[in-house]
Amino acid sequence: MNNSLGIYVHVPFCSRTCWYCDFYSITPNGKIMQDYVDAICNELIFYQNTGRVVESIYFGGGTPNLLGFKQIAKIIRTINETFEVSLNVEVTAEMNPELVTEETAYDLAMVGVNRASIGVQSFSDNDLKFLKRRHTARVARDVIEIVAKQGFSNISIDLILGLPSQTCEQFEYTAALARDLGVSHISGYLLKVENKAKLDHDKIVRLLPSENEVCNNYENFVKIMETHRFKQYEISNYAVNDRKSIHNLKYWRCEEYIGLGVAAHSYFEGVRYHIIKDVDAYILNVKDASQYLKETRGMLPPHLERKGLEKEGKQKLYHIDDCDLFAEYVMLGLRLTEGINIRKLTELDEEKCKKFLDVLDKRKLFPDFMVRDGDEVCLTLKGFLISNEIIAELLL
Ligand code: SF4
Repeated sequence: MNNSLGIYVHVPFCSRTCWYCDFYSITPNGKIMQDYVDAICNELIFYQNTGRVVESIYFGGGTPNLLGFKQIAKIIRTINETFEVSLNVEVTAEMNPELVTEETAYDLAMVGVNRASIGVQSFSDNDLKFLKRRHTARVARDVIEIVAKQGFSNISIDLILGLPSQTCEQFEYTAALARDLGVSHISGYLLKVENKAKLDHDKIVRLLPSENEVCNNYENFVKIMETHRFKQYEISNYAVNDRKSIHNLKYWRCEEYIGLGVAAHSYFEGVRYHIIKDVDAYILNVKDASQYLKETRGMLPPHLERKGLEKEGKQKLYHIDDCDLFAEYVMLGLRLTEGINIRKLTELDEEKCKKFLDVLDKRKLFPDFMVRDGDEVCLTLKGFLISNEIIAELLL
């Protein structure tokens, strides 16, 4: 069995909420950040003696760089005390550009963060104004230079696509600039206007490009990224020299990861579960972690203990999610350019795999949209654009 593990640490704090964002976040006050970090370290008690080797740690949010390096160091230290950690562990911290200085980047590098994921969003001030972000294109650029100077060689940037007036020229400029600044990874996500209650939804939507334009832009974006050596490996992700995100690959390949902190999701020992979106309840409940383990003598695997807790109604912190590994492997795996493997599908569920192959056969492999090479099946670029429809049909 593959015993490697990814750890996601959710930092739910943001100095303010961006209008288009639907993530769970709160504005920090008092000593809540300290209590939250203590709670995360406490939650790790549930995972003692699991025999896993940690390959990736990912601080996401929210705004992880609001925490400060001492708190990040404390969590990394506790992870090291709880698990065997691979010598090549990838440790990513998401960073909001306006909070990065030479000093903070240096401190993060010193405590073991070796991958910077910077929320650039765009190198155009117009886009950043539209998104009401606090940083400018100049700041985003400077921050990439700062983290590179502080020793980060693995630098990822987030970009938002589907904004008004994005052009091929702009994508060219972005890709060339990112390459020149030493960026090794790009995530380009489509803008989703989620939080309808908080904004003039219709007004914003009128400004956005049509679905057709978004599809054209996406195809152009992928091609332009590739000409600048950012090779697509997932619907929204591109890497230079194969510097893919080790952590995110675990999600797409249905490998094990645990999520620590509020709203974090886990897939561990065959169970999917998540933590409720309530910081106070989280802090309060994990205080009892060691006591609880004492009561159960620490013999049960963590997810089963949680199941027990839920059944007994003692704790409402964790929710067990439905898990259909066959469907998830198809849905997540087809996000990757490497696609999915028929042998693995057979191992997961022979009956379902037969049906899956029947659909492929009837639809003659969805011409233009899918490719099969031996046991490997993947979507083409055109296929990515209608992946939801194809996957829905394959899983009928
Ligand atoms: S986009 Fe990022 S900074 Fe803005 S509210 Fe969402 S998580 Fe916080």
